[in-house]
Amino acid sequence: MAQACGMLGDGSPAVKIHHLVKAPENTAESIARRESWDAKKPATVYVTPERMPDGTPCQAATVILRSRGCAWWWKSGCTFCGYFNDVRDDVTADDLFDQWAEAKNQTNDFEGCSMVKVYTSGTFFEDQENPVEWQEHVLKETHEMGLHLVVEAQAHMCKPEKLEFLAKHHPGCTVAIGLEAYDDAVLRFHINKGFSTKTWRKAVEDLQRNNLRVKTYLIFKPPFMSEGDALNHTSKWLVEVAPLSDEVSINPMNIQNRTIVDRLFRNREYRPPWLWSLIEMIQRTHEETAEHDSRIIVHPTAGGKIRGAHNCGSCDKHVVAAIERYSVSRNLAEFKGLECECKAIWRAEIDSDLCLPTPLGTGRDRRGNRVDLMRAP
Ligand code: SF4
Ligand SMILES: [Zn+2]
Repeated sequence: MAQACGMLGDGSPAVKIHHLVKAPENTAESIARRESWDAKKPATVYVTPERMPDGTPCQAATVILRSRGCAWWWKSGCTFCGYFNDVRDDVTADDLFDQWAEAKNQTNDFEGCSMVKVYTSGTFFEDQENPVEWQEHVLKETHEMGLHLVVEAQAHMCKPEKLEFLAKHHPGCTVAIGLEAYDDAVLRFHINKGFSTKTWRKAVEDLQRNNLRVKTYLIFKPPFMSEGDALNHTSKWLVEVAPLSDEVSINPMNIQNRTIVDRLFRNREYRPPWLWSLIEMIQRTHEETAEHDSRIIVHPTAGGKIRGAHNCGSCDKHVVAAIERYSVSRNLAEFKGLECECKAIWRAEIDSDLCLPTPLGTGRDRRGNRVDLMRAP
């Protein structure tokens, strides 16, 4: 029989598109990079102003550990997530204890802090990622020190027995879940999230039953989506998830190295969101989200830079500062008087995106001088 060809393929096994574009995690270069990290030292430790669950201002320490990384990433992974760049798959329990001791050392036992965020580039309480004895140690110790603890998790890892374990050793701590989008098609085809909105809702119920706080991350402008769609969708998702969350943090896309979004960006098929879109989203949702107690934070990581949310280059600094101020004050007056010529370009892009049949958008992919851009793609 003649071999199938053309649209039917040539008989070789099918591969998912994801496997064609996934970051090269097992090349010699990637392994060398991972092994260059010191497994005894945390990736980063820093202290920033924050707010306690009751709204009082405080100082918070953020500890990013060099863990084995997210189990989901090793299996498949979210399209935008570059955490794998900072992990080592051979980290031992002893290493994690040492990293934790080093974090305390660097901050003088979290001196002056009322909150600590312990981030492991995955799920804190996933036993394959982090040893149980280490999880228990961190939970107990931060509780004894009177610190409010924030950890991160995937929704399907929030199993009842794990949440009980958390509530037992650190009652009332916050679990932050990267939901990213409140839409199953977007979760599946744009983000490759690995869980559904139904799983997230179940996780929220279980967290609340255990008196744990719910923090939800949403992403602004996933790949394969126009600016106009991102604005409409994220505004809708924000209003929908706010009543179910104690805190919602909207993360405008920033391009992390060697991710799928990075490939699209370098291929000139993706532009991070406009800062104007973030303001428009805040203004559209302000009243509805204010009805709930949940806190809304918009923090443009790398704001104003080419790989973060940005405008034309000349107004970025002021616009980023206003967005940051709003996250603290929740006052729309922060945006008064912010104007720039680029706002008309942004507005035209949104209008075209929403009325022309161009699912990937109508905007220019990069800012800057066109000739320079052509020389250095
Ligand atoms: S975003 Fe979270 S769930 Fe997705 S690959 Fe990264 S660490 Fe894992
Ligand atoms: Zn501008």
